[in-house]
Amino acid sequence: MAIATINPATGETLKTFEPLNDTEIATKLDLADQAFAQYRKTSFAQRAQWLHKAAQILEEEKADFAKIMTLEMGKPYKAAISEVEKCAAVCHYYAEHAAEFLADVEVKTDASHSFVRYQPLGIILAVMPWNFPFWQVFRFAAPALMAGNVGLLKHASNVPQSALAIEAIISRAGFPEGVFQTLLIGAAKVADLIADDRVKAATLTGSEPAGASLAAAAGKHIKKTVLELGGSDPFIVLASADIEVAAATATAARMLNNGQSCIAAKRFIVEEAIADKFEKLLLDKFNALKIGDPMQLDTDLGPLATPDILQDLDQQVQVAQKSGGKVLTGGYPISDRIGNYYPATIITDIPPDAPIAQEEFFGPVALLFRVPNIDAAIKLANAIPFGLGASAWTNNDQERTRLIAEIEAGAVFINGLVKSDPRLPFGGIKRSGYGRELSIQGIQEFVNVKTVWVK
Ligand code: NAP
Repeated sequence: MAIATINPATGETLKTFEPLNDTEIATKLDLADQAFAQYRKTSFAQRAQWLHKAAQILEEEKADFAKIMTLEMGKPYKAAISEVEKCAAVCHYYAEHAAEFLADVEVKTDASHSFVRYQPLGIILAVMPWNFPFWQVFRFAAPALMAGNVGLLKHASNVPQSALAIEAIISRAGFPEGVFQTLLIGAAKVADLIADDRVKAATLTGSEPAGASLAAAAGKHIKKTVLELGGSDPFIVLASADIEVAAATATAARMLNNGQSCIAAKRFIVEEAIADKFEKLLLDKFNALKIGDPMQLDTDLGPLATPDILQDLDQQVQVAQKSGGKVLTGGYPISDRIGNYYPATIITDIPPDAPIAQEEFFGPVALLFRVPNIDAAIKLANAIPFGLGASAWTNNDQERTRLIAEIEAGAVFINGLVKSDPRLPFGGIKRSGYGRELSIQGIQEFVNVKTVWVK
């Protein structure tokens, strides 16, 4: 795959980049290694000062950074602005809390003094996706750098300008040379990097095949990994819920990032008693969305990031129909405009045991299922290989208790859409991956938890 910026709204190639050759990669690895030797000795206060500065740059130049993202992967510009603001927030968050999260923890034992100390590991490789080109990187980089690690970023090949902009932000913020570097390389180079002794751990956000491939390479060399992979999150609406609010939130939860979010609601599981009403509300809201140029502030739904994603989604919708699914709206690519546009689509009546019902739809397509009661809702929500997030709607205490206890996912949001928040851990179970980002759990993934015992 070429490393290039191709505008998804026009198909125009805006800029292409030569991938790094092996000598250039080796030079950057040397630099990262040398940087770590000194950087690990810097204080939390010094790192925090640099990270606050990075946040300030993000805040001051958010319009420029947002434009890069929209041009590279098509997300609505107003969402891109929010994404940059969220990156600034995660920088402030870890700048303020890292010292407390990684402070020595005293433990009483038979020693005169024993405690746990958290120390950095060294070079961490981050393989990142294009869908949140800034956020995915900053939610890795902020805790990793505050912990005293150094980062190497292999970003998705379609967002090279975002990758370079992030490297420049971290450098301009004052972090020493080599502490955070972007490698413009293809996926085929990742295994060699992991094999290098100086790379101590890796994290990947992306698809299951990419995650499995990275984890296999890391397993061979006994290196720690964190994987944030796909999801097909349920959005459960029970009869006791506020249906109007649920339908409005369902639309936002499905259309987030033009439908290309791992934690977007993808399967809408609705109790039979209110299913007609919910379906009608959802249909009206989907049909009211404004599709168009993602740079326009009133656009709700922009293009998909690449022609391949459009083609894959189209294929899945066709399979869903052949499997018994009924399209209520949308259901085919938009052919009368250039760009990778796909309309807001609702499909009902897919048999829950059809293989296509087990797949992640990475675009603005909602699968709607009707269930007789909460037992069937929970069963269907869990009948999927993924376990990232879940949103469930109820105003009944007993139902809420059951949903929290019985849903198999890394997160359950009651009466709200699933979202990431620096203060809360983020990650999945089952084939959605393992390990956690954000919060105290996120910063403790890539550290040596050292036991110290002194007599
Ligand atoms: P992808 O194809 O897996 O790409 C993600 C990254 O992995 C890119 O940098 C890609 O590089 C690289 N890559 C691909 N194959 C690889 C391999 N065999 N070895 C090493 N690296 C490899 O994923 P995508 O299609 O861009 O992203 C969509 C997926 O990401 C969805 O499933 C979505 O749910 C998931 N996602 C998960 C989260 C989460 O937090 N759980 C967040 C966002 C997205 P190239 O671009 O050079 O191929």
